[in-house]
Amino acid sequence: MPMPFSILADTFEKLERVTARTQMLLYLVELFKKTPPEVIDKVVYFLQGKLWPDWKGLPELGVGEKLLIKAAAISLHVSEQQVEQLAKRLGDIGRAIEMIKAERTRKAPAPGLLAFIKRQDGSTVGLTVEKVYDTLAKIAQAQGEGSREIKLKLLAGLLAEASPKEAKYIARFVEGKLRLGVGDATIMEALAVVYAGSASMRNIVERAYNLRADLGLVAKILATKGVDELKHIKPEVGIPIRPMLAERLNDAAEILRKLGGKALVEYKYDGERAQIHKKGDKIWIFSRRLENITYMYPDVVEMARKGIKANEAIVEGEIVAIDPETGELRPFQVLMHRRRKHDIHLVLSEIPVAVYLFDTVYVDGEDLTVKPLPKRHEMLEKIIEPSERWQLAKGIVTDSPEELETFFLKAIEDGAEGVMAKAIHDRSIYQAGARGWLWIKYKRDYKSEMSDTVDLVVIGALYGKGRRGGKFGALLMAAYDPETDTFKSVCKVGSGFTDEDLERLDDILRPYIRDHKPARVDSQMKPDVWVEPALVAEIIGAELTLSPIHTCCYGWVRKGAGISIRFPRFIRWRPDKGPEDATTTKELYEMYLKQLRKVKETA
Ligand code: ATP
Repeated sequence: MPMPFSILADTFEKLERVTARTQMLLYLVELFKKTPPEVIDKVVYFLQGKLWPDWKGLPELGVGEKLLIKAAAISLHVSEQQVEQLAKRLGDIGRAIEMIKAERTRKAPAPGLLAFIKRQDGSTVGLTVEKVYDTLAKIAQAQGEGSREIKLKLLAGLLAEASPKEAKYIARFVEGKLRLGVGDATIMEALAVVYAGSASMRNIVERAYNLRADLGLVAKILATKGVDELKHIKPEVGIPIRPMLAERLNDAAEILRKLGGKALVEYKYDGERAQIHKKGDKIWIFSRRLENITYMYPDVVEMARKGIKANEAIVEGEIVAIDPETGELRPFQVLMHRRRKHDIHLVLSEIPVAVYLFDTVYVDGEDLTVKPLPKRHEMLEKIIEPSERWQLAKGIVTDSPEELETFFLKAIEDGAEGVMAKAIHDRSIYQAGARGWLWIKYKRDYKSEMSDTVDLVVIGALYGKGRRGGKFGALLMAAYDPETDTFKSVCKVGSGFTDEDLERLDDILRPYIRDHKPARVDSQMKPDVWVEPALVAEIIGAELTLSPIHTCCYGWVRKGAGISIRFPRFIRWRPDKGPEDATTTKELYEMYLKQLRKVKETA
C-alpha cells in the first residue's frame, strides 16, 4: 500500500508545535505505526531533513530561493512577486505558498488539489511519500546543462499536486528549513517501540546505527526483517561506522590504573582521522564526522589499494602531513592547508601525507568490533603491507608509568600531539560511536610558544629521503655547555632549508665530516655521519620540549629527559659565530623555565 504524504505532513505539523519530548515520541510512534515497512527508510530520512545520509556524497537538491519561488508561482498561477512579497512579510516561503494555495483551493478546487480521493477499489490517489521522495531525488540528481529547467518543472509539478499543507512542508524541505527538532535518539526510541516492542530495545537499534551510519537503512532492516536481524548486524564495507572515542587524562600512573595496569600506548598523530574501506579495488575514505573524503586523498587511495591484503576490510588510521624531504611529521595546520586547496593533484607532492593505522573493525566477513584490541591488532598486522608512508601507529605495551611518560615525551618531540593509551584486556572491544575509558588520550594541557631563535652547532648529518635520497637532508644540532666544554644534542632539523641551501650542504659539511663521534660531542642519537663542531646555524621551532633522547640539560628539569625543540626550522647560517659562541645549555634551560612561567600565567 502506498503511504499518503498527508500523513507525514500532519505529523510534521504536530511535531512543530510539540513542547515535550515524550509527546514527540508518541507522535513518532503513531507515525511509524501507519508507515508501511517498505517506505520506513524514506520517512526516517524526511524526519532527518535529508534525502540520504550525507556520507553518500550524493548531490544536494540544488534549489535556491529564486528557483523555489519561481516553481511556486508556476504551480499557483500567480506572479513571482506575489509569492516573494508574501514570503518576505511572513519570513517563510513555505507558509506563503500554503496561504496562496489555500485561498485558491477555496475559490476553485481543482480535482488534483483535493488531498486524497478514494477510488472504488479502495486505493487512493494523491501525493504519496514515494512520489514526493522520488521526485525530490530526481530534482537533486538533475545536474549539468538544462538541469535548472528540469528542476523547475519537477518542483512546480510536485507543488501543484500537493495540498496547501503538503506544499508548505515540501517547500521547507527543499529550502533545508524543515527544522522539526527531532533527534536521532528519539527516532531510534520510537522505532524500538513500534518494531521491537519496547523503548528498552533502543540500544539494539543504536548499536546497529553505530555500525552502519544510515538510520533509514537500519529502520528498514528492523521493519522488514525484525529485531533479531538487527542484533546480528555487522559493519558493511562502503557504509561508515561511527568512530570509537577516547576519554582524557594527564597522568601516566592514573592512565594505567584506569586501563587495568597495562596498556598499548601509541603515538597520537596530529592529523585527520580516516576510516578506510576496501572492497576489491574500490576504496572509500570517511572522516571523523563521516563525510566521504575519498576525493581529497587520491594518494591514500593508492596506498590502501596496495597496502591492504584482504579483499574486504575496514581499517582506521590517522592521515598526517609529512615533510617531503625528511619524512618527518608536520603540524595539523599543514594538512588543513591541503584540504583548502581545490586542485588536489597540485598539492600531492607539495604536501605529501603518511597514514598511521591503529585499528580494524571488519575483515572479509568478520565483525571485529566485538573482539578485544589485541585480537584486532593481530588482524591489522596481518592484513597491512607496510610501506614508507603506510604504517602501523608507533606503539609500545607497558605497565610502567615512567616508560609511558618517556614515550609521551618522545611522541611530542617527534611531532605527535601526545599518546593514546588503550586497554588490552578481554573486554577491550571496539565501542563504535561511544566515548569511554577503554581509550585514553594524553595530551599536554598547555600550549607554549618559542619566542626567540637559538644558535646551534652542527654535530651530525642525516641523509634525506625521496627526492633528496643519497644527499644530506637533515642536521643534528647541539648547544654548547661551557662547564664541560662539550656540545650537547638538542634536535634534528630538516625543515626550513631552501633548495639552494640543500644543494650546498654537502660542500659546506665536507671538511668537518668525521667517521667517529668527535670528542667534545655528547649525543645519544647517532646521525648518518658525525660532524666536528664548527658550523653554527640559527634555528626557530614551535616550542621547547622535554626529550628522552637529547642530552642538552639532561636531568635538569626531569629525570631521564633533556631539552629539545619541537618542529625546528633552519633560518640561516651564522658564519660570524664560532661553535663556542652558540647558545649555551644554561640559556636553553632559562628559556624553558621562562616558557613554563608564561604558560602558567596565561592558564
Ligand atoms: P574526539 O575525537 O575525542 O572527540 P578531538 O576531535 O578533539 O576529540 P582529539 O582530542 O585530538 O580529537 O583526540 C582524538 C583523535 O586522535 C582521534 O579521533 C584520532 O583522530 C586521533 N588519533 C591520533 N592517533 C591515534 C591513535 N593512535 N589511536 C586513536 N586515535 C588517534
